[in-house]
Amino acid sequence: MIEKHQGSPVQEVIDPKLKDCGIRLLIKRDDLIHEHISGNKWRKLKYTLREAAERSHHTLLTFGGAYSNHIAATAFAAQKAGLSSVGVIRGEDDSTNPTLKFAREQGMQLHFVSREAYRRKTDDDFIDELEEQFGRFFLVPEGGANGLGVRGCAEILPEIEDDFDVVCCAAGTGTTLAGLALTLKENQKLLGFPALKGGEFVNDEIEKLIMESRLRPPLAINRQLITDYHFGGYAKLKPQLLAFIQGFTERTGIPLDPIYTGKMMFGIYDMVEKGNFMTGTIVLAVHTGGLQGWEGMKYRNLV
Ligand SMILES: *Cc1c(COP(=O)(O)O)cnc(C)c1O
Repeated sequence: MIEKHQGSPVQEVIDPKLKDCGIRLLIKRDDLIHEHISGNKWRKLKYTLREAAERSHHTLLTFGGAYSNHIAATAFAAQKAGLSSVGVIRGEDDSTNPTLKFAREQGMQLHFVSREAYRRKTDDDFIDELEEQFGRFFLVPEGGANGLGVRGCAEILPEIEDDFDVVCCAAGTGTTLAGLALTLKENQKLLGFPALKGGEFVNDEIEKLIMESRLRPPLAINRQLITDYHFGGYAKLKPQLLAFIQGFTERTGIPLDPIYTGKMMFGIYDMVEKGNFMTGTIVLAVHTGGLQGWEGMKYRNLV
């Protein structure tokens, strides 16, 4: 099994830009959980690995793009847990792509499919075809988006002893937001920052995932998606965003990833500057990790 961890530290972000606006910013450093399975990917896989073992599975099969943090994390986690893994990858093989190279080094078998075939990733007949080819497997949805993933993410906020008013977190599938929403206190608000264009779909996903987790939701959940900071989607890195990330890391010493946490933090600063938070508000940002994403950006000459 993966080494046990005792949660992750919370750190105050010391930055003159925030102080001037009267906002305190705390950051939950889930990026420090593990060198390879950083952040929410570890949280999302924890109960999946347990369930797979309990049901005597020997293989995990999952889906992802060629630069997916989830593919890298699943390959590593399966290997550590003594399981085989299959990654169904959208697109064509490229043996020098750093994410795919890493996944292969962990023993993940990669299966490349066209974009059309990839769209069938939740169809029963496609899953049956994969079973014929790879034998019995424990299916992990794309992005680790299942009720078990939500359960893992419901362990983030209870680890925190500090007080805070607003929780901010980046979103892909919404699994992490679902886990956070389930453990939000009455007087706290959750802001989700989708990394994709058209991120409104995440709202429905959160509801579905909360149901799937079978955890009991609080009576009222004060949450909102902030969809203005996707910067064009996954495979883009706008100069303005890159400059922000570099400046943030220089001032605070905290690294951010280019696809999720960088955009969330840009959004938080922009909202602070626009006066969207009342003076004295304590904001908690969840650092969901994803630092391996820089390798893919460098490889594509985007940085
Ligand atoms: C995968 C990922 C997310 C998205 O998490 P979801 O639970 O799918 O919404 C956010 N941040 C980072 C760094 C990620 O790698």
